[in-house]
Amino acid sequence: MSKKKLLDAVASDVVVCTKCPLWKSRKNAVPGVGNPRSQIMFIGEAPGASEDAKGEPFVGMAGKFLDAFLSQIGFSREQVFITNVVKCRPPGNRQPKPLEIETCTPYLDRQVLIIRPKFVVTLGSHSTSYVFSKAVLPFNSITQVRGKMYKATILGLQLGVFPVFHPASTLYNPQYKEILEDDFQLLKTKLSKAHSGVTNR
Ligand code: URA
Ligand code: SF4
Repeated sequence: MSKKKLLDAVASDVVVCTKCPLWKSRKNAVPGVGNPRSQIMFIGEAPGASEDAKGEPFVGMAGKFLDAFLSQIGFSREQVFITNVVKCRPPGNRQPKPLEIETCTPYLDRQVLIIRPKFVVTLGSHSTSYVFSKAVLPFNSITQVRGKMYKATILGLQLGVFPVFHPASTLYNPQYKEILEDDFQLLKTKLSKAHSGVTNR
């Protein structure tokens, strides 16, 4: 079966999922979007209000920031794959709870195993913490680990993990904008050194 069909099957399971209490307050679950053959996956935290309304990740304010960082390194949303650790919006945009992350991440794991990316960019501390735990890499804080490429084995796949601050953090910490721009620039260099195109096998 094609990667697209396999990802569609994950999305079909996500949109009817009732495994954790977040389903009760959602309008739409948000499985993920993008190119099934992307070499690079961007993983955020959880949907916000705009994403819940549309069923698509990073379409609100955080998405505007993400789109800008992507375009800075020559990518469009359609070229890459974008998803979140938790697929339904936590009420009032609170942080996802550990049990919600534990319950939901089998969907993310399935997506990673289908796409088999060469690189995963973790957006913010929840996503970084989850991916680092899978890779058995030590994680203290996003501030300590961001802006570096880590060689990792996740779910049996060897890939590069590149953590950055969450794009929406620039709203509260304007000085993070420059750090994110620098980190995305470094990501671009790392990708070109790896002779990676956007599209995977
Ligand atoms: N923040 C996230 O982490 N993900 C989204 O999809 C939107 C905002
Ligand atoms: Fe299911 Fe994940 Fe939504 Fe919880 S957040 S209901 S586990 S899809």
